[in-house]
Amino acid sequence: MTRLQRFAVSSALLLQSLAFASPEPCLNGLCHFTRNKLASRTVASELGPQLSANCNVYGPDDTQFGNCTARYDPFFTPKIQMVVQPATEDDVPKIVQYASANGIPFLAMARRHGMTSTLSEFDGMQIDMSLLDKIEIQPDGKSAILGGGVFAKNIMEKLWDAGYVTSSGSTSCVGLLGPALGGGRGRLEGYYGVVSDSFLKLNVVLANGTAITVSETEHPDLFWAMKGAGHNFGVVTSLEMKIYPRGVDTWYYKTYIWTQDKLEAVFEASNAFHNDGNHAGHHLKEMAFNMGSYTMIPSISETEGVIFWSFVYRGSKEEAQPYLDAFDAIKAVSTEDGNVPYPEIPGVSGTGMNSTLCDYGLNHVHYPAGLKVWNVTTQRQIYDLYNEKIREYPEFQRTTVNMEDYSHEGVDAIDPDTSAYPWRDRGLLSFIAVTYDPNPALDEAAIAWAQETRDLWNAGAPDLLPSTYVNYAHGDESAESMYGYEPWRLEKLRGLKAQYDPDNLFSYYNPIIPNMNPRSTHESNFQGRQIGAKSRSRGQ
Ligand SMILES: Cc1cc2nc3c(=O)[nH]c(=O)nc-3n(C[C@H](O)[C@H](O)[C@H](O)COP(=O)(O)OP(=O)(O)OC[C@H]3O[C@@H](n4cnc5c(N)ncnc54)[C@H](O)[C@@H]3O)c2cc1C
Repeated sequence: MTRLQRFAVSSALLLQSLAFASPEPCLNGLCHFTRNKLASRTVASELGPQLSANCNVYGPDDTQFGNCTARYDPFFTPKIQMVVQPATEDDVPKIVQYASANGIPFLAMARRHGMTSTLSEFDGMQIDMSLLDKIEIQPDGKSAILGGGVFAKNIMEKLWDAGYVTSSGSTSCVGLLGPALGGGRGRLEGYYGVVSDSFLKLNVVLANGTAITVSETEHPDLFWAMKGAGHNFGVVTSLEMKIYPRGVDTWYYKTYIWTQDKLEAVFEASNAFHNDGNHAGHHLKEMAFNMGSYTMIPSISETEGVIFWSFVYRGSKEEAQPYLDAFDAIKAVSTEDGNVPYPEIPGVSGTGMNSTLCDYGLNHVHYPAGLKVWNVTTQRQIYDLYNEKIREYPEFQRTTVNMEDYSHEGVDAIDPDTSAYPWRDRGLLSFIAVTYDPNPALDEAAIAWAQETRDLWNAGAPDLLPSTYVNYAHGDESAESMYGYEPWRLEKLRGLKAQYDPDNLFSYYNPIIPNMNPRSTHESNFQGRQIGAKSRSRGQ
């Protein structure tokens, strides 16, 4: 079936399902469209013919709908009434204009790994960016043009094969722009800063459907905002990013599994490794990334979590060894190491396409904290809590408590005022993901545990204001903790919202200005998940 035919069939199905929607009660939420005076036929008869031939429109009854809307984390899920897949960049302004004109909320998505609770306020049209997947290396070898739907794996592989790398998130299946619009943390940040530090220009469709180019010289204030708070401002149809020579042919990796009695030794060695958060001269850019987790490995223990840790080094084992001596001295249950090309590093360090991080469908109740050093006492408390909760709720066995330590040289080297990414001084990212098969009876316990863990991290860092990497946010954090406490940051962002998105149409992903849509308030979508009251305070 050609794409055009699929469009026709999909549209027919959508029309059919809309035609059967009764005003009350609201079947599949479709009455929203008829109630909001969106004539159902206009979806197919007006929007469809405006778009290029390979576009698709899927309604809930379409066989493709499930594939297009499956999510990594269905815990707080947006309500998708239809999916529109643009096939060219020129389709996107038409889709946005159409949706805006008809009062349909819209949201761009690429890989559907967005996990903030604020997404559950969304009820409308998903703009599925996945067909916009071009990766074109420019003739001078200094930049590449990337489509708005590309993701880490295809960028890593395509560039590597041509002799280049660029910044992206660390997990193969996650989109490029989801992370990058919030800064973007990844294995090359010791060299090139956070992902958005490599932006050269972005092609953006604004809320009113206007397509503009944003760069250091065109709309420079918006360019500043797109590098850290970009989810609030537009749909990126493509971007130009710096690329870099790929360097060594293989990276060295080593993973360790320790039992809990080594916990204090591990975190003391880790603090020494990054010099208590003063990275300069200590945490070399080559030692790109190390991350650990408390996790259950039943073959080692069915009652106690173990400590898993993974290091990756851009170079040889011999070069990496001096940095690993302190960790080798802590007796491990097992270790594994080797050398592989950069695109294979995710696969050997637990973040590849075959990892559970790339599976859809499990609840992941997550709460994060940004830190500078590991408080060893706190890490022990969080570990003890982990065991206690797993014992109490065996259904949470797949839960992980995660600690990430990216190399920092390239991040530190960039003036923090030059982008909306506010947390260059927080080297350590931590988060818990309480993981289980969807089961509302367990939600309250999952939230309580996850909150308690975040509170322990923050209480263990009394000198720091709580910080939240926006892409790891739960969604109940203050705007300041996500976008920065210096008053000028939020003032500037709010001014830019007034200029570029006065109706706050981009307000579903950790919004700068909370979504006030009465039809989709945070509370009503939480179905009693005991979090709405906190969420209301966002942005205040
Ligand atoms: C398993 C896992 C691993 C992760 N690893 C990392 C990591 O290594 N580094 C890191 O920094 N973060 C990481 N994150 C967090 C990640 O940055 C966010 O979850 C991000 O939102 C996911 O992007 P996506 O495209 O996969 O998801 P989506 O749900 O498709 O997109 C998330 C949001 O991004 C926006 N968006 C996406 N595409 C566009 C576009 N073209 N134009 C405008 N807006 C757009 C929309 O607001 C959308 O709601 C990870 C998350 C998970 C679940």
